[in-house]
Amino acid sequence: MTHGPGQDAGGDANGHDEPDWPGLAHPRMRDELLDYLDGLSDLDYQQKVWVRREAHPGVKHDELDYAIHFLFDDTGLARAPQASIGAFLFDEAEARAVQDVTRALDAVLDQYGTALTDAAYLAKPEWQHVVDAAQSALQALKQPEIRIDGQPVIVPTNGTLRAILNDPRYLDRLVYTPGTRPPIAHLITFVLDHANRFSLGLHRVKHPAHLWMPVALMRPHGHWQRVHIEYPACATCGWRGPIANPTEPSLYFGVPEERQALARAWALPRTGCPDCGAALGRPAIWAGAAGKPGST
Ligand SMILES: [Zn+2]
Repeated sequence: MTHGPGQDAGGDANGHDEPDWPGLAHPRMRDELLDYLDGLSDLDYQQKVWVRREAHPGVKHDELDYAIHFLFDDTGLARAPQASIGAFLFDEAEARAVQDVTRALDAVLDQYGTALTDAAYLAKPEWQHVVDAAQSALQALKQPEIRIDGQPVIVPTNGTLRAILNDPRYLDRLVYTPGTRPPIAHLITFVLDHANRFSLGLHRVKHPAHLWMPVALMRPHGHWQRVHIEYPACATCGWRGPIANPTEPSLYFGVPEERQALARAWALPRTGCPDCGAALGRPAIWAGAAGKPGST
């Protein structure tokens, strides 16, 4: 178990400090938030590091004040957690989970003031509410499950995606079979190469019950959008590269809000060829970098 600022709380040892959260604008902030939630959720850690100042792997020094500053000052999480959706939170549910933590902390600070020692705060009965809320938030944020078009979709970390490239087993299902591996491995590699913009969602279907359905996700206009990655050519200038097409009907098969979701997809603003600006033959809400044909 890892704790405290400066730790990789993503749960997947990357061996380097690449942010682990695909599709978010500020993934490092999420890692930081997870570190603080980790500390807030663990009474033993708090007694050991905050109170007794004992050494803890990867933590030079940590105290309650650091978490308070992060939640109340450095970020808008205490005031308006919804504003961080897309930046380092995935959705409303995560914003609410973090808000439960800041409210529990706020209640303690309101009641006892801001001048107590860490040991004194930990001894208050209300402190348990902070720990409980932090545990819930930590669980929710460690393995994000967001609702897209009325459907629960799990968003694995970059580290998990890399592991899936070698082993299709993830939780209770397989991400691919030997037969489906080439296109799905290609999609995973694409998402990892464009992790600042894209993430991979996995959702369950009734049949087959042993497989995950993977789908590329992006967040172009304030909501998570499922997209089909295609490689069309520009008929005007010959550019060829990846595009994100939200209107591919198969993206929405079995989705609770299938018709509405497809209608929303068709209404999204389109982008043209990144080199010459001409309309592309396929509906695209994103097109790969100009001058880098075929780059994935
Ligand atoms: Zn063109």
